[in-house]
Amino acid sequence: SQVTTDMATLTREVEKFTKDKKLEIETLKVREAYRKEFMGNVSHELKTPLFTVQGYILTLLDGAMKDKAVRKKYLQRASKGVERLIYIVRDLDMITKLEAGDLHLEEEDFNIVELVQGSFDLLEMKAAKKNITLTFDIEYEEPIWVNADRDRIQQVLTNLIVNSIKYGKEDGTTEVSIENLIKNKVIVRVTDNGEGIEKENLPRVFERFYRVDKSGSRKEGGSGLGLSIVKHIIEAHNEKIYVESVFGVGSEFSFTLEKSKDLPEINTEI
Ligand code: ADP
Repeated sequence: SQVTTDMATLTREVEKFTKDKKLEIETLKVREAYRKEFMGNVSHELKTPLFTVQGYILTLLDGAMKDKAVRKKYLQRASKGVERLIYIVRDLDMITKLEAGDLHLEEEDFNIVELVQGSFDLLEMKAAKKNITLTFDIEYEEPIWVNADRDRIQQVLTNLIVNSIKYGKEDGTTEVSIENLIKNKVIVRVTDNGEGIEKENLPRVFERFYRVDKSGSRKEGGSGLGLSIVKHIIEAHNEKIYVESVFGVGSEFSFTLEKSKDLPEINTEI
């Protein structure tokens, strides 16, 4: 009877081992498929600007170099293409780090109101080109202290505001608002009255490389990585990001942040 027990134990162990191995193989297969898809997307994204740059260089070599004005124009366009490549590579680098869990957050207490104002200052010129007004729906005087990685949240805000300008209508508005939630959270909203996103495309906007309107987005320039980076950053903070949109009316992206536990010493002496 001792032998039978041992056999039963052995069989169970072998079964468990086989099951574990099968699971491991499945995981590897999924990862490999994911890697292949990612590489496919990367080369696809790089191809367009690379061919553009190569096109201008070849035209220059083919004789266009002789004309000073044409030379300048083509070099400027080639430079734009290279700039686009740099942005794509930078975004790819970021998403690779984020997906590998290699991003170390440096959390600190900071005033989110100031961060929004800083983002507005940076993007005012960009908004002015489309005559878009940036408004901040908050009492400017009152600081709101949150605990998060300041630089990464700056990146999130910039990405969302840039998108609201890119996909916003001429003469439109982008509004940022911050609201206290119950418990220890705030919610930051970036709202535009731009082109909006159709309902069926909405769940996909956070996917990497996903763009609703390929041609339209391409004209605006972008890697289709912005929102997936934003989502990763917010989720790395264990916070949540939401999107609501009505096609033709506008979109609202919002995310939560944790309030600072203890208010930093504010100089109250006057
Ligand atoms: P992209 O580099 O194309 O801007 P994102 O990841 O930032 O990539 O956004 C993905 C897609 O989501 C965009 O191509 C666009 O179609 C849509 N989108 C993002 N933000 C907005 C917005 N504020 N209004 C309308 N569509 C948007």
